[in-house]
Amino acid sequence: MKPSSFDLLQPETWHEALEGLNRYGEDSQILAGGQSLIAMLNMRIAKPKILIDINSIKNDVPIINNKFDIEISALYRQIELEKRIETKEEFPLLFECLPYVGHQQHRARGTVVGSLCHADPSSEIPLCFIALQGKLKLSSVFSQRIVNAEDFFLGPLLTSRKSNEIIKSIIIPKSKKNTGYAFKEISEKYGDFAMASFAVIAGENFIRFVVGGVSEKMTSIEWSTTDLNQIEDSLNDFAWDLNTTNDQYSTDRYKRDIVREIGLKTIKTALYRR
Ligand SMILES: Cc1cc2nc3c(=O)[nH]c(=O)nc-3n(C[C@H](O)[C@H](O)[C@H](O)COP(=O)(O)OP(=O)(O)OC[C@H]3O[C@@H](n4cnc5c(N)ncnc54)[C@H](O)[C@@H]3O)c2cc1C
Repeated sequence: MKPSSFDLLQPETWHEALEGLNRYGEDSQILAGGQSLIAMLNMRIAKPKILIDINSIKNDVPIINNKFDIEISALYRQIELEKRIETKEEFPLLFECLPYVGHQQHRARGTVVGSLCHADPSSEIPLCFIALQGKLKLSSVFSQRIVNAEDFFLGPLLTSRKSNEIIKSIIIPKSKKNTGYAFKEISEKYGDFAMASFAVIAGENFIRFVVGGVSEKMTSIEWSTTDLNQIEDSLNDFAWDLNTTNDQYSTDRYKRDIVREIGLKTIKTALYRR
């Protein structure tokens, strides 16, 4: 199929982009790397009248390196984060997950922010972003606000972004001492979206666990213990409470079993890495 017809805006400043969004509201859509949006246009799942291509914005600051976090711009590509020398040490969870995000060609165009905005419950970057408790900076012509990762994702392809807002940048906290990070994923084949994915952060006295791909929304939980017996019991309860459903890949029972088995393995890996 071909997309339905649309007009293209190519703003050269963030302000022009925001004005465009404000003028056209729900009739418009931001184009970043296009790795999800172009497919949605071709399938006519998305039918914006105006496409606002942010790739021509000039003088964008791609990355601000702070002591305890980094702020990365909406134009920052997934591959730039993957290839950045400091990423392995500063963001071990993202470093581990990024190779699973499609294939290198998609990551070369796809933006980190675009992956968050697309809000696919099987996506790896949003999963890790929730675990890391990242923040998003949303701007409109009228105001700016900061939203916590946990509050941003509302459901499949659904976020708390308003139609006149752009995510100009996001903030990701750097890794902390005596803390272990682990990511695991099950998919049909390498590069596919996850059937189930896990991001775990193990601190001195807590475990934060996020699971994606098994239900309509990524689900997170934090336990204020690192005792594996207690965690195993709690993980079983957590798995049974998940709103899993049957799909073309697996049954809901199988998904809950994966959460208990692979989820526990991921927790053990994170504990080992502390
Ligand atoms: C073959 C293939 C395989 C893939 N496999 C995976 C995979 O295994 N795992 C995975 O996670 N992803 C996968 N992807 C998707 C890929 O990660 C996309 O890059 C990502 O989902 C979207 O990033 P983008 O920059 O391309 O955004 P776009 O496609 O340009 O936009 C996506 C959505 O976000 C909105 N948006 C983008 N930027 C902003 C902004 N700054 N402010 C407000 N709204 C914005 C757009 O309007 C659109 O609704 C795959 C893609 C392809 C084509």
